[in-house]
Amino acid sequence: MKTPIIQATNIEKNFGQDAVLKGVSLTAYEGQVVTILGSSGSGKSTLLRCLNLLEIPSAGKIEFAGKNIALSKDKKGNAMVSNQQELIALRKNISMVFQQFNLWSHKTIMENVIEAPTIVLKKSRAEASDEAYEILKKVDMHQHIKKYPSQLSGGQKQRIGIARALAMNPKVLLFDEPTSALDPEMVYGILQLMGDIAKENRTMILVTHEIEFAKKISDYVLFLKDGKIAEEGENILTQPQSKEFQHFLSHLI
Ligand code: ADP
Ligand code: MG
Repeated sequence: MKTPIIQATNIEKNFGQDAVLKGVSLTAYEGQVVTILGSSGSGKSTLLRCLNLLEIPSAGKIEFAGKNIALSKDKKGNAMVSNQQELIALRKNISMVFQQFNLWSHKTIMENVIEAPTIVLKKSRAEASDEAYEILKKVDMHQHIKKYPSQLSGGQKQRIGIARALAMNPKVLLFDEPTSALDPEMVYGILQLMGDIAKENRTMILVTHEIEFAKKISDYVLFLKDGKIAEEGENILTQPQSKEFQHFLSHLI
């Protein structure tokens, strides 16, 4: 049996009194596309953020390439990663693309893309810039390297968000509603780019409301409701079983 590249088991996340994730498990094998669906507030972003430990789960287990990332509690009882080296190693392997792009507004496009490779991977500026240029070509943004984010359209900003994630050459890419903030005419190009990236055999974990795209691209789909998985499987988008998921899908189309 192959080892999953990422495996989350029984993840719980509380914010104060609020239980936002109530025992969610997710497995992704290398090269797979796993899609997370659910209404607003169901816990999709929190789950993605737990996978790269931007949020520390209150309970449960995260394993990366078969290795458990040890979690513990600090003196106040807040969840924490026991070993910072493990956290750094995980972050080198997982990159995230955000709905609101999260680019540095005071840095140029090139500087945005080389930031993590120079700081986290300790690459020289020259090497990082050469690699960034190739990636920017791939996302068709190499003509804009000296511009600032404010000079770009939403679709262009998201191309940079994707380029920045790819610049870390991560094993796993997380996408949190990457097209939700875009004008409709920009959506197709970004989805096409994501389809191209999926073909390169990268593991992708994706939150989206683009159901037709999700049908084409997903190897596995999870439907979250109120912090729990209400339905999951390979073919649930074409054969939804539960009333809840059927209802969710019928309201999207
Ligand atoms: P989704 O991405 O599915 O819309 P989220 O994961 O963003 O849902 O949020 C799920 C619930 O958790 C929401 O009720 C939200 O208000 C709450 N939540 C998310 N992040 C935090 C936080 N940092 N502090 C407190 N509550 C939060
Ligand atoms: Mg969200």
